[in-house]
Amino acid sequence: MKILVTVKRVVDANVKVGVKSDQSRVDLANVKMSINPFDEIAVEGAVRLKEAGVATEVIAVSCGVAQAQDTLRTALAIGADRAILIESNADLQPLAVARLLKALVDREQPRLVILGKQAIDDDSSQTGHMLAALGGLPQATFASNILIADGLATVAREVDDGADTLSLKLPALITTDLRLNEPRYVAAQKIGADIHVLIVGHKAQGAADKAAKIAGVSKVLLADAPQLEVGLAENDEATVLPIAMSYSHILAPATALRKNAMPRIAAKLDGAQISDITAVDSADTFERPIYAGNAIATVRSADPVKVITVRATSFDAVPADGGSSAPVEQINAAADCGVSRFVSREATTLNRPELTTAKTIVSGGRGLGSGENCTRVIMPLADKLWAALGASRAAVDAVFVPNDYQVCQTGKIVAPQLYVAVGISGAIQHLAGMKDSRVIVAINKDPEAPIFGVADYGLVGDLHDIVPAFVDAA
Ligand SMILES: Cc1cc2nc3c(=O)[nH]c(=O)nc-3n(C[C@H](O)[C@H](O)[C@H](O)COP(=O)(O)OP(=O)(O)OC[C@H]3O[C@@H](n4cnc5c(N)ncnc54)[C@H](O)[C@@H]3O)c2cc1C
Repeated sequence: MKILVTVKRVVDANVKVGVKSDQSRVDLANVKMSINPFDEIAVEGAVRLKEAGVATEVIAVSCGVAQAQDTLRTALAIGADRAILIESNADLQPLAVARLLKALVDREQPRLVILGKQAIDDDSSQTGHMLAALGGLPQATFASNILIADGLATVAREVDDGADTLSLKLPALITTDLRLNEPRYVAAQKIGADIHVLIVGHKAQGAADKAAKIAGVSKVLLADAPQLEVGLAENDEATVLPIAMSYSHILAPATALRKNAMPRIAAKLDGAQISDITAVDSADTFERPIYAGNAIATVRSADPVKVITVRATSFDAVPADGGSSAPVEQINAAADCGVSRFVSREATTLNRPELTTAKTIVSGGRGLGSGENCTRVIMPLADKLWAALGASRAAVDAVFVPNDYQVCQTGKIVAPQLYVAVGISGAIQHLAGMKDSRVIVAINKDPEAPIFGVADYGLVGDLHDIVPAFVDAA
């Protein structure tokens, strides 16, 4: 069964669009464009039907300017098999798009057409309905569940006071609502290739077995030897290099351990490392923050093997056990290079969540005044909220807290559900690493402090009064 799915190139959902000075239309100069988020759900829905064995081919189509090819690449990266661009520089209105799509439906004869319920630029929610009418297809709009069996599509659709279930004869047309699925944003999966996981370590069979169960992994390679236990860069590099040329991409999380060896591997492969990516636009194009996150660079790599570190907080995790037990293959561990030796590690024992994975973070700045105040004022709040403790660089430099508490540009990049900034001014270097937090609460006695510019909730006042009041109320 063939599925046709439509994708529109729209202004990215995070861009705050402005109106041109002559009020004629919105100003789209230099704004970031992305795939319409509802269409992303549509592609994901189609790909899932293919993965479930219901569909045999997913074709993505876009109507618009030549740059919409990038949008189609995103669809291919999610898992579409083929992409078609109906190129037009015209200002296409919904009926015109529906007519173009009708011609394509006549040619391709899909059994199912899936569209996002609306595009987030014009928000008109009509192209799918118009196409269904023109093509004589039964329709189910605003779908939150799709089941295909026996030539029928059974679709739950959201209505004003609940959900209806409809049964449509195929061929049919469906528009997707938000609840249908969560598109995968996993870095490796967005690149769209076969995914192997390499485990480099010692006594690591358990880790390899766990990796084999991860959704989307087709093979696990295990290099297991005492000299690989602690992540010495020279030994890691020598182990990865012999297999590197068999891959188009080598990715690692941008953690202190993995950032250690990756640039060495890139150098030996005669290529560049693309550091700390926050988005995959296509198999060769990536986004990464520069200037402390104040600008996002889009980087296209021509290297045959792309060596990449990934900012893990920018991507969703796949299910840890959603895979189908990929095979685990032993590979050779390189001999100990013998030029460096692990002496000792002073591990921090944590009795609270770890900073980079915590759902809630309470962070203190220079405004705390002392390490003692950190223990007395913000620790009780962190305890109450079961939060990780973070700090600004100034608080670390003043030795209020150890340096592994440091959040941001030169510390740990975080994006928790809740970030509470206490006595932190909000310097760009600090904001660079926490402004993607879902909800930011700032407590500062200076109403002009820049932290209030990114805060969802701001409390102006003395932290010594506000934080204990918070703790009492929590
Ligand atoms: C190359 C470079 C990299 C850097 N990397 C980082 C980084 O990774 N992370 C980072 O955090 N910084 C980094 N910095 C430092 C950064 O520029 C700031 O100096 C630092 O973030 C300031 O920390 P702060 O907000 O705690 O201190 P301050 O800027 O001194 O702010 C203290 C705040 O506390 C408030 N305050 C004081 N007393 C009270 C009170 N009683 N009640 C309520 N509020 C009070 C004040 O109003 C003030 O806003 C970097 C700097 C450079 C040059």
